[in-house]
Amino acid sequence: MIATYLKDFVQLIFPELCHSCGNSLVDGEQHFCTTCLYELPYTQFHLDAENKLAKQFWGRVHVKSAVAFLYFTKGGKVQNIMHQLKYNKQPQIGVELGRMYAKELRNHDHYQKAEAIITVPLHPEKLKKRGYNQSEQFALGLAEVLEIPVLNDILFRVKSAESQTSKSRDQRFDNIEAVFEAKTPNSTLKKVILVDDTITTGATLEICAIALQNIGIAEINIVGIAFTE
Ligand SMILES: [Zn+2]
Repeated sequence: MIATYLKDFVQLIFPELCHSCGNSLVDGEQHFCTTCLYELPYTQFHLDAENKLAKQFWGRVHVKSAVAFLYFTKGGKVQNIMHQLKYNKQPQIGVELGRMYAKELRNHDHYQKAEAIITVPLHPEKLKKRGYNQSEQFALGLAEVLEIPVLNDILFRVKSAESQTSKSRDQRFDNIEAVFEAKTPNSTLKKVILVDDTITTGATLEICAIALQNIGIAEINIVGIAFTE
């Protein structure tokens, strides 16, 4: 009883806010308000094997599937969510988004049968500054629902990428080539989920996927938090 009063009191002074719109959450709401949950721009890519993101990899690298949870648009709700996740010390947003998406993905073959989740490594300086890798937080949420591990000892960033702004896709590719390296895992991994945060050109994922294939991981399923065209 006292605990309930105390909780209400704390809520009154520090109400939990929606990660998307910033409005106070009401009883029964967690992380996101009901309106935002309804209005978020879900891609539904997992229902379409030939979705826009999957097509980006055609002719570049063979991946089994490629999906992202939300559409990212400038000034939209998802930009706000990603900002909170990356720059406002709120790793739990990533975990929650992962849980939400995994509840959709777990009914599909590629994700049901995946053996582990691997995340695109963050630049060490960014990791130090931020304290966590936002993609890994998302992966932890996915892992919880899919009941598979997140493996951090397979994919590594081996050198810094040059600034990628104002460069074409081909130039970007040149710049980040050989930035990632995969180490042979002890187990015999064959089917994995490869996770990134906001996917734009897919150039980083392409390199990561090739690195993973080079160590014998045959089936790669890409899952992003957001996709921007
Ligand atoms: Zn909201």
